[in-house]
Amino acid sequence: MYSSYTRAAGEANLGPRPDAGQPRSGSRPVGRGETPKEGEIVTSDELVRCLREQGWRTAVVPGARLADLRREIESRRAELDPAYLAIVDRNLEFEVAGSTPAVRSLIVVAVPHACARATFTVDGEARAVPIPTTYCHHAEVHAEVAAAVAAALAPAGLWAAPLPLPEKLAAVCTGLARYGRNTIAYVDGCGSFCELVTCVSDLTPGIDPWTGPRLLARCDTCEACRRACPTGAIESDSLVLRGERCLTLHNESDRPFPEWVDPAWHHCLWGCLRCQRCCPEDLALRDEVAEAASFDARETRLLLGGVDHALLAGEPTLRDKLGELGLLAYDDDFLGIALSRNLKAALAAR
Ligand code: SF4
Ligand code: SF4
Repeated sequence: MYSSYTRAAGEANLGPRPDAGQPRSGSRPVGRGETPKEGEIVTSDELVRCLREQGWRTAVVPGARLADLRREIESRRAELDPAYLAIVDRNLEFEVAGSTPAVRSLIVVAVPHACARATFTVDGEARAVPIPTTYCHHAEVHAEVAAAVAAALAPAGLWAAPLPLPEKLAAVCTGLARYGRNTIAYVDGCGSFCELVTCVSDLTPGIDPWTGPRLLARCDTCEACRRACPTGAIESDSLVLRGERCLTLHNESDRPFPEWVDPAWHHCLWGCLRCQRCCPEDLALRDEVAEAASFDARETRLLLGGVDHALLAGEPTLRDKLGELGLLAYDDDFLGIALSRNLKAALAAR
């Protein structure tokens, strides 16, 4: 199963996730009568600065904002396709599981993350196929950020734990990002090419930067993404994406493409970049691409024919390359059906 909280719901691909994890407890809470030691992070501003040193942007809002996020999602239910809602309900957590120390803050972190490009070999020719930002190393980035936030707070006896949330909505509501007309979240400094990670903590929040969802000012006078979308998913008179029309929904699924989908529209291994690559907000960053795995002719043939985990057990090199693309977390249906179908479509469309 390939999990995705789709564009229709205003969210990025969730992909495989690390466990939500449990908050750490039993540590020394600072700020309740104790003086923090030098270097200990005890305020949200200090955490924001610390993570900024890694090139990440961060917003910290009160934990009570979790309820606002849930209300936002609930208020959109009527607009959303039931298939999307099923995915949303399956993926989104608004509470930390298990026995939970008090959640005092919600932390949203934006990590710049370029698109990737895998290369396949067909008829002796190397063929590059793009992979959008949120697919490669998605789980690793989320785990790294969650670990970094927890490590930054731990010396002061504070805990932090990852909590899967509607990340784009969380980012735009906290003021960390703005929605584009294409319902992608844009963050200052990295545009739409970033991973968004959400954690909760007992860190005391500072001034609440909550803004609610906001649209990029540029979208008032721009329709480039609507014109670039081949499926009509972006409408001129609505800011709600027609998710059932978005290619991402269909090429992440192992079900056959609907008849109305022209396979020539596919240009990525999965997902779709057409409404990002045309966006003037992303001009400076859209050509940044991370080279991912390269597959020789035999490996390409195997992938086109459909692979599964049993086959990959006897193909360690191919297995490692798929691991580089973050694909080993997926089941045989995804590997054998969706990957093969998407690759055929992307190669045929070029
Ligand atoms: S392409 Fe134009 S309308 Fe679409 S998100 Fe970018 S700025 Fe907004
Ligand atoms: S351009 Fe692609 S990703 Fe964007 S809305 Fe259209 S189908 Fe979806």
